[in-house]
Amino acid sequence: MSKQSANNANAYTASTKSVTLKIDGSTGEGGGQIIRTALSLSMLTGIPIEIFNIRAGRAKPGLMRQHLMCVQASQQISNASVSGAVLGSSSFHFVPSTIKSGDYHFGIGSAGSTSLVLQTLLPALFFANTDQSAHSTVTIKGGTHNPLAPTTDFLQQAFVPALAKLGIQVDIECVQAGFAPIGGGLIKTTITPFMRRADSKPLHLTERGALTNIALVASVLNLEYDIGKRELTSAKAVLLETGMDDTLITTQANKLDGIGEGNTCYAQVTHECGDHLHHEIFTLLGEKRTSAEKIGYRLAGLVKRYLFKTDALVDEYLTDQLLLPLALSGGGEFTARIISQHTETQAWLIKQFLPVDIKFEAIGDQKTLVRVIC
Ligand code: ATP
Repeated sequence: MSKQSANNANAYTASTKSVTLKIDGSTGEGGGQIIRTALSLSMLTGIPIEIFNIRAGRAKPGLMRQHLMCVQASQQISNASVSGAVLGSSSFHFVPSTIKSGDYHFGIGSAGSTSLVLQTLLPALFFANTDQSAHSTVTIKGGTHNPLAPTTDFLQQAFVPALAKLGIQVDIECVQAGFAPIGGGLIKTTITPFMRRADSKPLHLTERGALTNIALVASVLNLEYDIGKRELTSAKAVLLETGMDDTLITTQANKLDGIGEGNTCYAQVTHECGDHLHHEIFTLLGEKRTSAEKIGYRLAGLVKRYLFKTDALVDEYLTDQLLLPLALSGGGEFTARIISQHTETQAWLIKQFLPVDIKFEAIGDQKTLVRVIC
């Protein structure tokens, strides 16, 4: 297998390599994340890929609309030649060429997750171009609040601030919210090419300092405003029962713009970490036949698990999502509450393309030190 070495993240340039990296899509977690991460890294390293056994263990295997959009969008921004990528495909071949910054518009054509399509494209548009004036914009239509995927709120309130600590700048706007089954959401993202500063240090996100704030936010799309307010009341009451200081908790109820209907709530939990702040967010979507009070209760449960069952800084989802940006921007370390199979699979896949080491060192049974060594 050919690997491209890079001392500096900006050394990643797409130059077509002849040897195709064959990736078994059923490895580890075996889901859509393998497709997205492989596309990101293929574009950045120039290594052609063939993915087979795509999502083999899933109830509906093969490329779903969201995954196909990831392939097509990657093809567009890296001028790739692609074969075999149609709805339901169990394999495809992707040969990237040069990544181009620009203004891109994509429509998933379903309520598929705009966040996951965006996360496929971000590394290429951050790291491929050393010209900082070459901003890109990416507009994507689809779902903004999907189960089993980061919501736009998660990207804005946790992922983007974490990237900022690595010196990576991105701005994400939720123009219209979109929930399943209709979708119809729209996000617009402005991407600044990443330039690693000579004096930048590896990320060090290990010690949890004082809790500074818990922001509880509930939003409705074309549903009764009261639903969100009831979720907030319920979540706050449960948190106060733990003896938490009332002044640390803020609440906000919103009405979203968009077509269709939906309800979401999240808690953004902020801790001090050295001289900066770390934000984690926990998100739930409203469910038919589940009361607003119950959703609020569950949201508070997620916060309590993070606050009282571990003193790690990074929770499950941000852990797997941080590995690739870290591997591309110089490495670092952080404490994680849990290492999911997604995270293990992500680490394995990154190491297929890049000369990095990713280590997990359990610290007691409540947290793990994650080290990305470039
Ligand atoms: P598949 O349908 O094959 O499972 P997929 O393309 O929908 O695949 P996964 O491969 O399961 O997606 O990847 C899901 C991604 O969404 C992971 O990066 C995970 O961290 C993230 N994710 C899942 N749930 C949440 C959540 N509640 N908050 C934030 N991120 C989430």
